[in-house]
Amino acid sequence: MSLGEFDLIAKYFTRPTPRAVLGVGDDCALLQPAVGLQWAVSSDMLVEGRHFLSTVRPERLGHKALAVNLSDLAACGARPVAFTLALAMPRVDEAFLAGLAQGLFDLADVHGIELVGGDTTAGPLNLCITVFGEVPPGQALRRDGARAGETLWVSHEVGGGVGDARLALEVFRGHVSLAGDDFEAVRRAMEQPQPRVALGLGLRGVASAAIDLSDGLVGDLGHVLQRSGVGAVLQVDALPISPVLARQPRARQLQCALAGGDDYELLFSAPPEAEARVRAAAAQAGVAVACIGRIEASPGLRLVDAQGVALPLVLQAFDHFKDGPDA
Ligand code: ADP
Ligand code: MG
Repeated sequence: MSLGEFDLIAKYFTRPTPRAVLGVGDDCALLQPAVGLQWAVSSDMLVEGRHFLSTVRPERLGHKALAVNLSDLAACGARPVAFTLALAMPRVDEAFLAGLAQGLFDLADVHGIELVGGDTTAGPLNLCITVFGEVPPGQALRRDGARAGETLWVSHEVGGGVGDARLALEVFRGHVSLAGDDFEAVRRAMEQPQPRVALGLGLRGVASAAIDLSDGLVGDLGHVLQRSGVGAVLQVDALPISPVLARQPRARQLQCALAGGDDYELLFSAPPEAEARVRAAAAQAGVAVACIGRIEASPGLRLVDAQGVALPLVLQAFDHFKDGPDA
């Protein structure tokens, strides 16, 4: 006998919610922001075949579904408080649910965020999470604050870089082959991204604008430039590249790092005199940051090499209507 809807919610998705006024079990959850703070709210949906492969382990899927949402809070400099989970799945598979809940709550516990409600239905496998975070008024990191003369930064794992998740996707697609250990490393980047929540908090009052990298650096940077009404010069030789990606041909390195998608790093601008504070925030958060360019008044993005020579690169940002994992 398989579990019914309410039994499975009770068994897998109901835990104590000390921070919420009312959690799972009523028609609405009730949340009270701390005195003087605002809610930062964001939703992200993960669809099988589009955002993840059917072969992914359920623990990693649970992790990633929450991680991509926490990454949006990080990009706003918000502190995670609560989330909801809307889940469609074709059938009740308890091994799957147990794994999914494990991955989800393991990451939730790291960031002190609690599941307060959601929806559960039969249908094609699909997870939609909405996160609620707190931020003091006027302190959220936004996309529209970059100014000419500022420096441009990207976070990355210590000893890692951007583009690994895309390299893993290329292996799954059969376009690239990697040795076992190398594949495991990039697969982990793809399936278990670490949201840069601590860095986002540390960049409040330091960064002038920020975005998290979900669709590829060039495309995501384009959003910041457009919203801020500025342009930028990006030094491609300053991009952080992991040792595994560094063993690929240079053209593939750049394609993965600049247009790969699924990095979940923070890309941000800051005044040049804030460099020490940027580095201190990164050290405090236990992540690395690389200075990859500068903001300019003239619109558009210019890619240059270490000598400042312009690179004529044609790159395509990740587009879910063209580039899903099953493409
Ligand atoms: P309603 O029909 O009133 O929308 P539901 O019967 O769908 O409520 O859900 C019952 C309760 O379980 C609600 O409090 C809802 O927020 C919660 N819930 C449903 N699905 C999930 C889930 N996947 N994770 C957490 N809470 C859930
Ligand atoms: Mg419902």
